[in-house]
Amino acid sequence: MNELYDVIIIGAGPAGLTAAIYASRANLKTLVFEAEVNGGKLSKTHMVENYPGIASISGLELAMQLSEHGQKFGATLMSGTVEKVLEDGDHKTVLLTNGQEYHTKTVVVATGTKERILDVPHAKEFTGRGVSYCAVCDGFFYRNKKVVVIGGGNSALEEALYLASLASEVTIIIRRDVFRAEASVVDKVRSNEKIRIITRHVPEQLVIEEDRIKGLMIRNVDNNEMQLIACNGIFPYIGADPCTSFLDPSILDPNGYMIVNPDMSTSIAGIYGAGDCVVKDLRQIVTACNDGAIAASSITKYLKK
Ligand code: NAP
Repeated sequence: MNELYDVIIIGAGPAGLTAAIYASRANLKTLVFEAEVNGGKLSKTHMVENYPGIASISGLELAMQLSEHGQKFGATLMSGTVEKVLEDGDHKTVLLTNGQEYHTKTVVVATGTKERILDVPHAKEFTGRGVSYCAVCDGFFYRNKKVVVIGGGNSALEEALYLASLASEVTIIIRRDVFRAEASVVDKVRSNEKIRIITRHVPEQLVIEEDRIKGLMIRNVDNNEMQLIACNGIFPYIGADPCTSFLDPSILDPNGYMIVNPDMSTSIAGIYGAGDCVVKDLRQIVTACNDGAIAASSITKYLKK
């Protein structure tokens, strides 16, 4: 436990695992911590169709391959939740929630984002039994049933397409007239006969009968009229927030995203950011990998100085 690492990477999603590949190939003593599932959000994604060179692959499969690849050149991958990163010049201490501490010269924070929770009464209590944030994990339970997907981003639309392969009907609710998702995904959704789209509405209330979800009341944002959507399952995909609360606020923007330089360094020497948790325009697997590679390569140069 008193070993000194060259780099500790926090998060084993595409950004963290790519950083692990590059760091360990540069002979850096590398340790990766993952708080949940190796592969990060990728492991909850049904299909990936925009990773160059692989026309189509399940998110879980790509997550498994990345995880194996990340350890191939000597990086150690461990399960653990980071509570704090203490910084004392060239020496950083990474504290875990279980009280253990690890020492390192540099840190890459690649913790990604966490999905926003549906903010209507009882949504929390019905999570896992009617409200789900993972279509890949729970979609099976809604075979031939009606489900609602809330949100108009890539996550909502891609998972709605997956759910349409199982459910009898998928209703997508968006609060504006426009989607955030890429045009190709929007086209697929629009041409799917099992999917209907309701615009300019927001979720208001779960409809519960005999302790089961039977529907969702939605409100028209223009005239406040309420409408009942009968359904058994509700899948909110209403965006995500960065997992950076354990970091020094001086390296975060007002929304909690890490402020990084083009070499992925932050204003604290030896602390780097990569992937969805940094300020950026395009959050994709490929841009996360890009960040991880740059962070590890910058660290190699930094440690040589
Ligand atoms: P997102 O792009 O931020 O979209 C969130 C959606 O939820 C938007 O339609 C938003 O509406 C809606 N929304 C937010 N709060 C709401 C509320 N309280 N009530 C109702 N609707 C609400 O989130 P995401 O889809 O999770 O994607 C996150 C990032 O990951 C994005 O950068 C995305 O491109 C990326 N991603 C990429 C892929 C891919 O390339 N294959 C897959 C998944 C995610 P408004 O538009 O009105 O704000």
